[in-house]
Amino acid sequence: MPHDHVRLRKALVATARSMNGLGINQGASGNVSVRAGKGFLITPSALPYDQTRPQDTVLMGMDGKPRDKRKPSSEWRFHRDIYAVRPEAGAIVHTHATHATSLACLHKGIPRFHYMVAMAGGDDIRCAPYATYGTQELSDHALEALRDRKACLLANHGMIAFGSDLESALALAVEVESLARQYWQALQVGKPKLLTKAQMAEVLEKFSDYRAG
Ligand code: 13P
Ligand code: ZN
Repeated sequence: MPHDHVRLRKALVATARSMNGLGINQGASGNVSVRAGKGFLITPSALPYDQTRPQDTVLMGMDGKPRDKRKPSSEWRFHRDIYAVRPEAGAIVHTHATHATSLACLHKGIPRFHYMVAMAGGDDIRCAPYATYGTQELSDHALEALRDRKACLLANHGMIAFGSDLESALALAVEVESLARQYWQALQVGKPKLLTKAQMAEVLEKFSDYRAG
């Protein structure tokens, strides 16, 4: 076991393992990372989460070089690039959640059909154009779709959500999948009525101090 970041490595594996049970991911799809020191820790590539141990997580430098022996997630580029330009990102969750991915296969984002869309930081959740998994092109598209947002869909692929820590990144990923499911179901019966930009602005304002007292 690498002796550094033991607590963070355990928390990273626990978060990755919880994704399948929460119904937001399946198999070895998806990946999770958390900031650690000057770089970040990320789940290993292609290893099912129930077989992943804390010592299998990979410490990455911002130069994209692994400091541990396992192969890092093939999506280390967008994780690295998000940490580089979004100082508020402390942890990132990427999943192939069914409803979010279904919308992304139609190249549809999630519009302002429900006020909880504001949880992602703005009045919609965008869908980034398609690019091959693991490429710099996918990372560039994702960063653009995440402008002023903490979550986005990835065309024909899945979604990304980030937060200040693992717990909030995971909670946002769960929320995005719920919203995708609700939007999907509403579309079955008609054309969902969208909130106005002013109504969303009011919610965004209220969310800025929405916390337990
Ligand atoms: P990794 O197993 O390499 O993390 O890949 C899973 C994935 O979701 C690629 O987009
Ligand atoms: Zn993926």
